Amino acid sequence: MRFDYDDGNIFAKILRGEIPNKTFLETEHTLAFEDIAPQAPVHMLVIPKGAYVSYDHFARDASDAEIIDFNRTVAAVCEKAGVEEGFRAITNARAHGVQEVPHFHVHILGGRPLGRMLE
Ligand code: C5P
Repeated sequence: MRFDYDDGNIFAKILRGEIPNKTFLETEHTLAFEDIAPQAPVHMLVIPKGAYVSYDHFARDASDAEIIDFNRTVAAVCEKAGVEEGFRAITNARAHGVQEVPHFHVHILGGRPLGRMLE
């Protein structure tokens, strides 16, 4: 699989500081910020700073340090956001997954009952 990264995407611009974001947490390899159009009281996006298009791209090509840092940041976001009662982590990939922004990101949704997603 080839993953051609488009560095004109909006999250690449956020990472370069070209457009603003509401940063929630930042580490060496990972940025977490508030989604601009929240679908729940808590709606964070967690993105690697590296240029990865989608989850499979990240899981295949990122370094162990990036992958560990990303997952630890997801845990830290959940703790800081106070979603002890539960949350949903979603990542959309490419056309069939209806991915709008072609930079890998995980949505963390919580703060209310989210209902069943899969039947
Ligand atoms: O998973 P998907 O690619 O569809 O989601 C992209 C998300 O990025 C949307 O939830 C959208 O609200 C968010 N977004 C953002 N800030 C931007 C542009 C998009 O939080 N400047």
